[in-house]
Amino acid sequence: MAFRIYNTLGGRLEEFKPLHDNQVGMYTCGPTVYDFPHIGNYRTFVFQDILRRWLKYRGYRLRHVMNLTDVDDNTIRNSKAAGLSLRDYTAKYIGAFQADRQLLGLEDPEIVVRATDSIDDMVKLIQTLVEKGYAYASEGSVYFRVAAFKNYGQLSKIDLSGIRDGARIDSDKYDKNDARDFALWKAPKEGEPFWETPLGPGRPGWHIECSVMSMKYLGETFDIHSGGVDLIFPHHENEIAQSEAATGKPFVRYWLHAEHLIVNGEKMSKSLGNFYTLRDLLGQGYKPSAIRYLLASVPYRRHLNFTFDGLHQAQQSIDRLRNFRFRLTQESFSPGENAALQDRARAACRAFEDAMDDNLNTAEALGAIFAMVRDANTAIDRGEFRANDRTAFLETLERWDRIFAVLEDTDYGKLRQFGFIKEAREFVKLDADVSGPEGAEARAMGNGHRSGLQAESLTDEEIERWVAERDEVRRQGNFARADEIRRNLQKAGVILEDSKLGTRWKRK
Ligand SMILES: [Zn+2]
Repeated sequence: MAFRIYNTLGGRLEEFKPLHDNQVGMYTCGPTVYDFPHIGNYRTFVFQDILRRWLKYRGYRLRHVMNLTDVDDNTIRNSKAAGLSLRDYTAKYIGAFQADRQLLGLEDPEIVVRATDSIDDMVKLIQTLVEKGYAYASEGSVYFRVAAFKNYGQLSKIDLSGIRDGARIDSDKYDKNDARDFALWKAPKEGEPFWETPLGPGRPGWHIECSVMSMKYLGETFDIHSGGVDLIFPHHENEIAQSEAATGKPFVRYWLHAEHLIVNGEKMSKSLGNFYTLRDLLGQGYKPSAIRYLLASVPYRRHLNFTFDGLHQAQQSIDRLRNFRFRLTQESFSPGENAALQDRARAACRAFEDAMDDNLNTAEALGAIFAMVRDANTAIDRGEFRANDRTAFLETLERWDRIFAVLEDTDYGKLRQFGFIKEAREFVKLDADVSGPEGAEARAMGNGHRSGLQAESLTDEEIERWVAERDEVRRQGNFARADEIRRNLQKAGVILEDSKLGTRWKRK
């Protein structure tokens, strides 16, 4: 099955065919680094991660460029308020964004660029537009003349009947259905950062940044450009106008846009108290993998209704898949094989692939995997599963996880790396009543009194040691001590699951 995607430009599903063989050039609008992105932003970034993983899965060689908008109305306003230079102010939020990306398992684009590192290229493109009659200077700024570009409105299907030639707007974002000449270059206002250039002193408008940075690294015509639906107009419409007016060539072949995220059925807003950054959710104890799963689980062109119930279900779904994989690898099966079961695993893999080829239908891709897990668990329970059947199922799981990336439990390490969980030592308080052999042992473990511990304060290695010790005392028949260790771990937020395959632990 061919990979089909919904192209906003044509307004329909189209088969994806790159311009050059199996090379794909893709540009995604990165964040404006003036604050912490909210989970609605991350919905779009997770969609783009799924897209890039799927392109690679399908064998394409990918060159993915993402910009960081580090100069615009918002970054200038906030850096002034903070009393910092634009560079220093935005550096903080670039760092936070990169940490968030790692937490959510987002792959790095091949090229990440700061807008302010391409000012010279922006000036050159603006000069070309002026020379060609698509742009004009006024009071130190330069504007794009919308009426001069006859294909304006092709992406957003905006109604141009009300267009007023010469009506200008300086702000980067403006109302829908209001086509106006927009600023390519802005004369400096009092106290604003500016660059001395052949255009005069000033700074670029937001839209020109993306035209320049995408064409700089991907060429004048490239394959995919994507962002959230709120970028269709004016941002992407203006990018097309600037780029095509300057080059006379088609700018982008496929435009992909992710729908909005809503929270508990309502638009996310600070005044409603339902506005969440990724950090807010991690601070409340939610796991990055569960957040990634939830954001990925709804196909990108549908509204995603974000709820805490949904987040809990996402965690349970991940646990189900991990438990299934654990069972496959640890349980002993009779030798031989069951051809029908292996066919089942391969059919699930094809169903997952077909769903992804169908405009990245992640909901169906998940459905295909869970149906397989259910059937395989039933077969195992009935004793129909054979040792040689393992590989087919593990292979399907592995392929699925190349896209969804939640099967490995990396949450704890990442949360610790980025400071969401403190080092164990900071929690340790040696309790006065920890005395005698047990106290000595607790002290030797460096843990202090276990009953005072939280899950976060025990490292994976420390938990493993306790679990191993408990296995040992059980083997010796000391069940009272084994129970005590279980209770202590439970108080520390660690749950033990005993089965004939051994003991697994997880954090609450
Ligand atoms: Zn952009």
